[in-house]
Amino acid sequence: MQHLKKIVLASGNAGKLREFNALFSALNIELISQRSLDIPDAPEPHPTFVENALAKARHASLLSGLPAIADDSGICVTALDGEPGIHSARYAQAADGTRSDTANNQKLISALQGVDDRSACYVAVLVLVTRPDDPQPVIAECMWPGELIDAPRGEHGFGYDPFFYLPDQGCTAAELSPELKNKISHRGQAMELMIRQLQARGLTPPLEV
Ligand code: IMP
Repeated sequence: MQHLKKIVLASGNAGKLREFNALFSALNIELISQRSLDIPDAPEPHPTFVENALAKARHASLLSGLPAIADDSGICVTALDGEPGIHSARYAQAADGTRSDTANNQKLISALQGVDDRSACYVAVLVLVTRPDDPQPVIAECMWPGELIDAPRGEHGFGYDPFFYLPDQGCTAAELSPELKNKISHRGQAMELMIRQLQARGLTPPLEV
């Protein structure tokens, strides 16, 4: 199996491009965003993170002719049967399509009023395909457990982070430094797992640990 040299990131998100770039540049893999190739976002019609990530990666690979990597993530709340889950980004989306972290957080915390079980977990799934019809996509899924609190704490991060309390850290995800969050978060762990699997498949050179 040939080592990967160039991968398309199936996202136009600049923050994600930065995070993935840091990871892949250490492996001498060039990462290009699908936006720089004028590839439009893929539809995400599926009920699971893994299916949506796979759909995005396939779409980017098909339109670029290159291997592609995609991620899908969200927060799953136990007392809400796993919601907002795959709907996390658009949980409180208005009829005109506008959405915001503030509205999402308000809706979530209102839904949990009077609820004792505050447990939740962030979920991240990364999928890499070497070609659109790759029969063996590389899949890395990780979870990051925490508890939802009623009042926001912290200035870092994004999304649900100010309400996501981590008992083992004694703070919310928004109170962690970005470096620590990137290391221990659902996405950070999934990236590490992805690299280990790419190495095990012979798709990247072995890394010195
Ligand atoms: P997507 O993976 O870009 O579709 O985004 C999923 C959504 O899940 C985000 O818009 C956030 O609402 C939420 N989410 C995923 N990861 C995080 C995180 O690390 N912090 C806060 N919110 C997150």
